[in-house]
Amino acid sequence: MNQPHDPAAGETAVPALNQQNMVDLMHRLEKTMEGSYSCDEAYALLDEYVELVADDEEAKKLMPMVQNHLDMCPDCRDEFEMLLQILKTADAEA
Ligand SMILES: [Zn+2]
Repeated sequence: MNQPHDPAAGETAVPALNQQNMVDLMHRLEKTMEGSYSCDEAYALLDEYVELVADDEEAKKLMPMVQNHLDMCPDCRDEFEMLLQILKTADAEA
């Protein structure tokens, strides 16, 4: 799945990825195709997901696999709610 960078493919605000990040991302995408996330995988995306939720983006549509995991995993849901609280608190103080 190593595609050459194509500037015509629509640049989005993606931060520069180093090689390792790219490999991780590919692994994540492959896992996504297989089915549901493990706790590790959901946790790796939790920061990102929390920010989407806090920004009122359509987090469930953008990252349905994370939401899917949170729905069935109380441990990760606790972690998610904790992160969300921290983020909202930080926003309120800003
Ligand atoms: Zn979990």
